[in-house]
Amino acid sequence: MVEYFIEKERTVPVKGKYDVIVCGGGPSGFIAAIASARAGAKTLLIERYGFLGGTATAGMMVDFGSIYDGNQVIVGGITHEFLHSLEKYGGAWMRDEKTHSMVFDPESMMMVSQEMVLEAGCTILFHSWICEPIVENNVVKGVITESKSGRQAFFGKVIIDTTGDGDIAARAGAQFEIGHGRPDILQPVTLEVIVGNVDVTKISVDAFMKVKTFIAEAKQNNEWTIPTERFFSYGRVIKRGEPVNPKSSFFFFNATNVLNVNGCDVEDLTRAEIESRRQVDCLIRFLRKYVPGFENCYLDRTAAQVGIRETRRIIGDYILSREDVISARHFEDGVVPGCNSIDVHDPCGKDFKHEYLKPGTHYEIPYRCFLPKGLDGILTGGRCISADYRALGSTRVMVVCMPIGEAVGIAASIAVKEHCMPREIPVSKLRSTLRNAGMSL
Ligand SMILES: Cc1cc2nc3c(=O)[nH]c(=O)nc-3n(C[C@H](O)[C@H](O)[C@H](O)COP(=O)(O)OP(=O)(O)OC[C@H]3O[C@@H](n4cnc5c(N)ncnc54)[C@H](O)[C@@H]3O)c2cc1C
Repeated sequence: MVEYFIEKERTVPVKGKYDVIVCGGGPSGFIAAIASARAGAKTLLIERYGFLGGTATAGMMVDFGSIYDGNQVIVGGITHEFLHSLEKYGGAWMRDEKTHSMVFDPESMMMVSQEMVLEAGCTILFHSWICEPIVENNVVKGVITESKSGRQAFFGKVIIDTTGDGDIAARAGAQFEIGHGRPDILQPVTLEVIVGNVDVTKISVDAFMKVKTFIAEAKQNNEWTIPTERFFSYGRVIKRGEPVNPKSSFFFFNATNVLNVNGCDVEDLTRAEIESRRQVDCLIRFLRKYVPGFENCYLDRTAAQVGIRETRRIIGDYILSREDVISARHFEDGVVPGCNSIDVHDPCGKDFKHEYLKPGTHYEIPYRCFLPKGLDGILTGGRCISADYRALGSTRVMVVCMPIGEAVGIAASIAVKEHCMPREIPVSKLRSTLRNAGMSL
C-alpha cells in the first residue's frame, strides 16, 4: 500500500504576469516563444535545463528530416529561417538544399535558438521545473515553478505546453492517451552518442549496409548486448569551427535501446539512464572491432538525458489519425503542413517501420489538435499534441514540431490581442498569417 504525506499549504511569490507563457524550450517551445514574442505578446519561456533545444540538444538528436514533399518545400516561416541561421552559423551540414535535411552540432543549436528567442524580445527563465499549473474553473491561468529560488508563480493569459510529455495539460486535468492501445506498450528509448576520431576515408556505404550482419556476428560472440538488430540512424557531425580532417571526424549514433520505459515514470527513467549508459560501452567496443573506419574511435560525449520517443498524447478537440497522415488529408482548420513518414519503433526492440506518404503530397494538422478537450487558456505543441500513436510517428519529428510551435505561438498572440480564449480565435486569420509566412496550407 502506498503511504501518503500531506504537504503544508504555502504562500508562493508571484514573480511575473505575461501575455503568453511557453512551458519547455525544445524545438516546438523555442519556436513558439519566438512566434509569440515577434507578434507582440509579452512572452516568457520557462525551461528546466540551462539551455534550449530539448531532445535536439539535451537528447543530442542531431538530425533534421526533410521539409520537401517531393514536389515543393512545404515549411517556411521561423522554422525555415532557423534552419538557415543554424547553417550560416556554421553549426549544420545541409545534406541536400532541396529537402533541407541536415545534421547539426548541438552546441550550435543551443546558441542559435537562444539568440533568436532573445532577439524576438522573449524573456527566458532557465533552471526552473514547472511543477503545477494554476487552474480556475477549467481555465489554465499560470504555472508554478520549483528551482534554486524555491517556488514561484507566473500568470499568463495563454499557457503553451511544449514539455514534450504534456506535463502541464495533464496536471491541469486534461485527458490523455499513452502507449499503443495499452499504456505499457511504448516505443523504446535511446541514449544518443557522439564518437570521435573516425576515419571517414575508410567508411563505405557497403560497410553500413552490412551492419546487421556485423551485429549478428557480434551477438554470437557475446559482444552485442543491445536489444536491437540495427542502428536506427547515424551520420557525420561537423562541429562549428572544427578543423576539417576526414581522418579524424565525429559521428553520431542512434543505436542504444532500452525497452519498457514510461518516460513519465521517474524510476523507469532512472533504469533507462543506467542501462543505456552501459550499452554505450558495448557500442564503442563493437564499432572499434567490426566497422571499418571506426577502429580508433573514442567516446566523445553522450546526451544529457535519454531520448524519449513517446509519452502522453493530450486529447484535443480532434485526434489526428494515421489515415489522415497517410492519405495526406487537408482540413479547413489545417495550420501545420507535414510530409514525414510514420516512424514507429517496435516496442520489443527488433526494428522500426516506416510508412510513407505518396510523393508530392503532404498532410495538415488541424488547429483543434492543440486544444486540450475540456480545458481553456492552454494550447499544446510538439510531441504531446492530440494524435493517435501512429500519427505521432510522423508529427513527433522536429521539422513538424517546430512549425507546430509557430502555429501555437501565433495563435496565442491572436487570443491575447482579441481578448479571447485560444479556442475562440478566428482560425482563418491564423491560417492566412502562416500562409503568408511561407507554410504550404
Ligand atoms: C532517440 C530519438 C531519435 C529521434 N530521431 C529524430 C530524427 O531523426 N529527426 C527528428 O526530427 N526527430 C527525431 N526524434 C524526435 C524529436 O527529437 C522529438 O520528438 C522532438 O524534439 C520533440 O520536440 P518537443 O519540443 O515537443 O519536445 P522536447 O524536445 O522533448 O522538448 C521539451 C522541452 O521541455 C522541457 N521540459 C519538459 N518538462 C518540463 C517541465 N516540467 N518544466 C520545465 N521544462 C520542462 C525539456 O527540458 C525540453 O527542453 C527523435 C527522438 C528520439 C528520442
